[in-house]
Amino acid sequence: MKDIEVDPQRRTVRAGAGVTIGELDEETQKHELATPMGVVSETGIAGLTLNGGIGHLRRKHGTSSDNLLSVDMVTADGRVLTASEEENADLFWAVRGGGGNFGVITSFEYRLHPVGPEVMCAFVFYPGDRTKEVLRSAVEYVAEAPDEVSPLSFLGRVPRVEDFPEEWHGEQFVAFLAVYAGSVEEGEEALKPLRELGDPIVDFSGPMPYAEVQKLLDEDYPDGWRYYWKSVNVNGLDDGVIEALIEHAEAAPSDHSTVDIWFQGGAVGRVGADESAFGDRSAPILLGIEANWEEEPHEDEANIAWARGCYSDMRRFSSGGVYLNFPGFLEEGQALMREAYGENYGRLVALKNQYDPTNLFRLNQNIKPTA
Ligand SMILES: Cc1cc2nc3c(=O)[nH]c(=O)nc-3n(C[C@H](O)[C@H](O)[C@H](O)COP(=O)(O)OP(=O)(O)OC[C@H]3O[C@@H](n4cnc5c(N)ncnc54)[C@H](O)[C@@H]3O)c2cc1C
Repeated sequence: MKDIEVDPQRRTVRAGAGVTIGELDEETQKHELATPMGVVSETGIAGLTLNGGIGHLRRKHGTSSDNLLSVDMVTADGRVLTASEEENADLFWAVRGGGGNFGVITSFEYRLHPVGPEVMCAFVFYPGDRTKEVLRSAVEYVAEAPDEVSPLSFLGRVPRVEDFPEEWHGEQFVAFLAVYAGSVEEGEEALKPLRELGDPIVDFSGPMPYAEVQKLLDEDYPDGWRYYWKSVNVNGLDDGVIEALIEHAEAAPSDHSTVDIWFQGGAVGRVGADESAFGDRSAPILLGIEANWEEEPHEDEANIAWARGCYSDMRRFSSGGVYLNFPGFLEEGQALMREAYGENYGRLVALKNQYDPTNLFRLNQNIKPTA
């Protein structure tokens, strides 16, 4: 399912469910257009969109699911139908955040926006011992930043590769990755403050093709490694949160693990909680907790325990809410599903009862039918 049809006049794209982000960007960028997707090009568009989808364009253009115009799908009883605002609107509401619970999606139609082909990208690493000051300044910066900027920050250890000065290998860092969703000239100005938060270990920033920016992190996730990720919304990035993040980042058993700070707001925050299944968007920060380790099954326990420990601890700064694209194993079961969907949970169960009462689609972040 790899078909991709761009309509540059209507600024839409229809893509088969087997398409990856990189494949989609490649086709839409031929017309200097893009729809918001995640930040690693090898990810599939399907799962990502069905649970939201956040990336470099999120504060300007929203989540991937916010840009959906329609889907074609097969329901549990074998019907083939289209869901959009006009047709089967209840299912259209449900698939924008409700994951794979309501049917097999065969194709996705998205709204496109002018992006690139070149964009300004800030990608800069600072020493870990400056994390507190750097993150405090970043919070002030984001409060004033235009929606064109959607920074992602991460704490981790400097990779032992030649792109980084050898004396820093294995040391803690705090990094920023952000694109300016507008002209390169405006972007150079707008992103400058993120590059001037101190003396960087290394600054990879510069104008680059949008399709290349989307691949910048690909090599950090080799096939065959082991991964266990969790997420939690937090109410801000005050000193308590920053100190806890530093502590957890330093305690990671693997050099490849990171804690990620997704600055939200902008277009993501302007969609009402009941407008799609995705739910509440009021949290200003989403934390991603990424345990990433090499092909060593005997290290599973320590790495999974680290991610779980960090997640449970950071919940003290949260009013609830997790992101179901980084769920880890949902050991909390339906309680966490209820928390993720908030007020929308009841409506999702009612739709599950209507469209999939036997829970045929259950190998997912499952919304259990009660029928
Ligand atoms: C390296 C990496 C980077 C990532 N970066 C980001 C990021 O920047 N932003 C972000 O938001 N997320 C990110 N994610 C998380 C990503 O959104 C999820 O892993 C998502 O599930 C990927 O979708 P997929 O189609 O590749 O997954 P799959 O494993 O194929 O599917 C996951 C689930 O989605 C459902 N599903 C998939 N296809 C269909 C379909 N056609 N019809 C119905 N249900 C379906 C099913 O429930 C399935 O179990 C990243 C993940 C990885 C591994």
